[in-house]
Amino acid sequence: MTEMQALIKAKGTVSLQSAAQPQLTGLDQVLIRVHTAGLCRTDLAVMRGLLPTPEPLIPGHEFSGTVIAVSEGVKDLNPGQRVTAMPVLPCFSCYACRARQHENCLQAQILGVHCDGAFAEYLVLPAAQVYALPDSLSWEAGAFAEPVAAAAAILDAPISVQMTGAILGRGRIAELSERLLRSQGFDKILRVEKASDLEPDACDWMIETGLATGDLSPLLKSLRPGGQLIVKSRHLPQLELSPALLIQRRIRLQGVYYGSFAWAIQWLEAHQSRLQDLWGAVLPAQQWEKAIALAEAGESAKIFLRWN
Ligand SMILES: [Zn+2]
Ligand SMILES: [Zn+2]
Repeated sequence: MTEMQALIKAKGTVSLQSAAQPQLTGLDQVLIRVHTAGLCRTDLAVMRGLLPTPEPLIPGHEFSGTVIAVSEGVKDLNPGQRVTAMPVLPCFSCYACRARQHENCLQAQILGVHCDGAFAEYLVLPAAQVYALPDSLSWEAGAFAEPVAAAAAILDAPISVQMTGAILGRGRIAELSERLLRSQGFDKILRVEKASDLEPDACDWMIETGLATGDLSPLLKSLRPGGQLIVKSRHLPQLELSPALLIQRRIRLQGVYYGSFAWAIQWLEAHQSRLQDLWGAVLPAQQWEKAIALAEAGESAKIFLRWN
């Protein structure tokens, strides 16, 4: 059995250990050597035990790496290619998956949450979730495709450049969301830490990038009649809202999940030089404890682990 190093969460604690290197076991799979992996809020929630997961588990869902081997059936990916991956793994068997609407799979597993992820030297993924990276993208930029695709989900909401929008939050997700929207021609954007910093009736749409409480009333009051509240953070507290506010203002509540990975990679090619300030320390995997401490200390810059 070939061994690899991996960050493993077991019995409520996390440690760097030897683990069996994953192998290709079926059709349409890709074995990837992880180069760089980003630490995000989901990973911290998993490692702190705030998000229930199977154990033992290798966390991590944002990465860039190199294809080592592919199994039968894989056409467009070859050993040596630099890649990243969409971390939501469809079941390939439910109603939505059979209709080839993999993005609507309700039994999907999230890499590093429901199954072993990218805080390891190697991982195996279905080829359909793996995306080639252009040579021009740095390893950090490649590992940043997931946050960009997540931010690009805003563009799935029915918003337009004529509307005034508000982005709630001060961290890198809010900053990335604003840069992404401005790059698409949105220039009427208000950036505030919380909804109570906005005037009443301030905006046509509002997106949260993390809320301290689940009370949506202050958010609803800042939206104009017919406005949209866009929700994208998976780990919010249970949401509470006043039906009267929602109804009187005819507000649309819109959940968004992921935009296109292919689009995110193209966007990164054009914008990576203007994102460097959102990228913080890159630490060798052996310094994982320091990396977690840095990621927990602030949300202004992405912290990366180098695996190879
Ligand atoms: Zn993430
Ligand atoms: Zn499915």
